[in-house]
Amino acid sequence: MSAPLQIDVITIFPQMLSGFLNESILKRAQQAQAVSFNTIDLRNFTHDSRRTTDDKPYGGGPGMLMKPEPIFEAVESVCTPKARVILTSPQGKMFNQNYAEALAQEKHLVFICGHYEGVDERVSETLVTDEISIGDYVLTNGVLPAAVVIDALVRLQPGVLGAEQATTLDSFTTGMLEHPQYTRPAEYRNMKVPNILLTGNHGEISKWQKEQALKRTQKRRPDLLI
Ligand code: SAM
Repeated sequence: MSAPLQIDVITIFPQMLSGFLNESILKRAQQAQAVSFNTIDLRNFTHDSRRTTDDKPYGGGPGMLMKPEPIFEAVESVCTPKARVILTSPQGKMFNQNYAEALAQEKHLVFICGHYEGVDERVSETLVTDEISIGDYVLTNGVLPAAVVIDALVRLQPGVLGAEQATTLDSFTTGMLEHPQYTRPAEYRNMKVPNILLTGNHGEISKWQKEQALKRTQKRRPDLLI
């Protein structure tokens, strides 16, 4: 069995992550040794009695910026030569399924979670390999964005999802949205499951699913079909 994907997360809020990383599929992924998480408290890399991680921006402006020294030291404490060092930032490259699939191939990822007004620019200029945004909106800190990216790529690790949750027909994986799905009962409050799904004819069902996926994508996300 190959070595687990190593994921280090540097944050001033390590407790925000612990519940998330230790429940459900991410917990199972660790138990199956598909992934290993290490949460690093950035304050452990400060050198003053107040454990300061932020300071005023040069040139003025509102709010505080994260200082470079603790971040450099924290990254250097865990970094390996081939590690991808990821800064979560609303100014980064937009995260999507293709990006998740690329990161899922890596062996070592180090996440830096920003806070306050963001992070001293020297961090993105020289330390990071990837600056990732999870969408065109601004959150209070980078823990949730890191968690989103981690979740998307851990479920792609071999053996993490059972066959019952295969990812091959997932939205975006096929280039389209996934087809509509139904479970029991076959009829609920006069709402019926499409007859085709009850026939047991796998060829016809698969054809129907592909047609529905295309229709849905044309309606909801035509941009995916360009
Ligand atoms: N002043 C920054 C700007 O305008 O670009 C925003 C800083 S934001 C309040 C604080 C931190 O939250 C960022 O450093 C980043 O780590 C994280 N963050 C906020 N929104 C994000 C997004 N859409 N994607 C990724 N990270 C985000």
